[in-house]
Amino acid sequence: MSASPSDSLDRALKQYFGYDRFRPGQQGIIQASLQNQDQLVIMPTGGGKSLCFQLPALLRPGVTVVVSPLIALMQDQVDSLQANGLGATFLNSTLKGLEARDRIQAVRQGNIKLLYVAPERLLSEHFLEFLNQLRSQPGLSGFAIDEAHCVSEWGHDFRPEYRQLSRLRQYHPDVPVTALTATATDRVRQDIIQQLSLKRPQVHIASFYRPNLAYEVRPKGRDSYQQIYQLVRQGGAGIIYCLSRRQVDELADKLRQDGIEALPYHAGMSDADRSNNQTRFIRDDVQVMVATIAFGMGINKPDVRFVIHYDLPKTLESYYQETGRAGRDGEPAQCILFLSYGDASKVEWIISQKADEQEQRIARQQLRQVIDYADSTECRPSILLRYFGETLGEPCQTCDNCRNPKPVEDWTVEAMKFLSCVARCRERFGVTHIIDVLRGSKKQKIKQYRHDRLSTYGIGKDRTVDQWRALARTLKHRGFVDETDDGYPVLKLNALSWEIMRQQRKVEVALPRTVSAFEGDRRSPLAVEAEALMFQLRALRKQIANERSAAPYTIFPDSTLRLMAQQRPQTLAEFGQLSGRLNPTTYGPATAANLGGVWATLGCGAL
Ligand code: ADP
Ligand code: ZN
Repeated sequence: MSASPSDSLDRALKQYFGYDRFRPGQQGIIQASLQNQDQLVIMPTGGGKSLCFQLPALLRPGVTVVVSPLIALMQDQVDSLQANGLGATFLNSTLKGLEARDRIQAVRQGNIKLLYVAPERLLSEHFLEFLNQLRSQPGLSGFAIDEAHCVSEWGHDFRPEYRQLSRLRQYHPDVPVTALTATATDRVRQDIIQQLSLKRPQVHIASFYRPNLAYEVRPKGRDSYQQIYQLVRQGGAGIIYCLSRRQVDELADKLRQDGIEALPYHAGMSDADRSNNQTRFIRDDVQVMVATIAFGMGINKPDVRFVIHYDLPKTLESYYQETGRAGRDGEPAQCILFLSYGDASKVEWIISQKADEQEQRIARQQLRQVIDYADSTECRPSILLRYFGETLGEPCQTCDNCRNPKPVEDWTVEAMKFLSCVARCRERFGVTHIIDVLRGSKKQKIKQYRHDRLSTYGIGKDRTVDQWRALARTLKHRGFVDETDDGYPVLKLNALSWEIMRQQRKVEVALPRTVSAFEGDRRSPLAVEAEALMFQLRALRKQIANERSAAPYTIFPDSTLRLMAQQRPQTLAEFGQLSGRLNPTTYGPATAANLGGVWATLGCGAL
């Protein structure tokens, strides 16, 4: 009996990449590729897009040309493929003439299955001619356009040179195109199909749910630095995002003073410094990158264990993309947002300085969505996915709101006081003024409007300003009061407000948590002994990586190290059976000798 097509794909996956099973979506995409279909592949970061064009390229005759916007990314992918003994190379502007000629020769001779190029290079006359020659020998099996959202002006990373890619279609109408992106918005997706002239493309939209990411929001306060320090001390690589360059530098300095290997990354640094810091991060020479949002686009580091936002992200979409850089290897990772309403007011002020009114409105709405997310008591991934038009069937059970719901208190009486104060002030004032009246403030503005004579003046002294603000936010979110904008925000009563004042409706407020929901959560559930082994294996991996000037994850992913620690393979054959990129011919003897040493020190027998 002959094996089914999916059996043989499974075998190819194990043979070339060492993985035991496909991630969701991969198999269907690869099958469609093998039938020469045009495709648009939308998968979240870490979903495993690369494999979707790499495996078909290895299985088809001829060479697949991969267009990728970032040189570092190209280099990483090619390194990883080569480490597995697979025929891959790249051509870009960093190569010297001779080197480029050698590579071109290798492609011509059919030794290369994946040829990576930068878009500007691809469309030079020279290269177009080269592509023409490839058609007859060894054959052109497909184009893969990575980070395809770069063709769209609606995306967050438009690159004019990507626009030219439509010409590929004119020259090679019959060569199938696979476009890949993690972009979540429909407009960009439509734009990609159009700009790249995809022909009746199969569109694969993978779920954007990333079950290995544990989302959490913490109030930002005096002890936030201490909390961050504790998180970092748990080990694993991480990114901390701040808004300003100054904050980035300060936080990186402070962490370094406390003995943490941390480096800054922001637009104020030279290109060389930035790229140097980035490489050191990828190679695990430093543990933490403190960065402005300029960092991380297209960074291929699968073993980032935490992403901390020390400041508010600009939009919920950018928050999702930035946190998506954690845990691309599928292992548990933490995504923590530190929320401060003071920060939110600062952002509001910056927005109010924008000249364009339309821009202001959009920015306000985006800020509002971020705050709503942070304030919510709902399952975090459910909120994020809803933003992208996806519904999460069940709550995730790993986010802070699922694991440790905020305590809820009945604040109906306070809500009645607040709303009647809005009414007494004739619906002409904003939150700050209403709270001032309730708390009996002596501000000039109160006297000027004679609001110290209102019956609601001073009836709310028993609650703090922060507590009243929390109530006001809840009332606004739930639509129990409206806020209009007449140059400044003004509270207006609506039908629901009156229901509350008539005691027909209850108001519950979620109070901030006092204890953090997580502690030591990132640690995998390994026995203490296996933890110790993991530690040694990491060090060994770093040593092998250094010898090859490579990033540790290209040697073995964390998940494979964990399997090694748990299963302790005793023979090369057992070793080769572990899931992960294991190629005994490349890693075999050297690794075996080294591993033998590790096993021996731990008294576990020789390999
Ligand atoms: P993306 O480009 O979608 O962000 P990558 O292609 O970089 O994601 O893949 C993310 C990580 O997942 C990589 O480390 C990759 O080796 C790993 N990976 C991909 N497919 C599989 C699979 N089927 N099984 C296990 N790991 C996989
Ligand atoms: Zn949840």
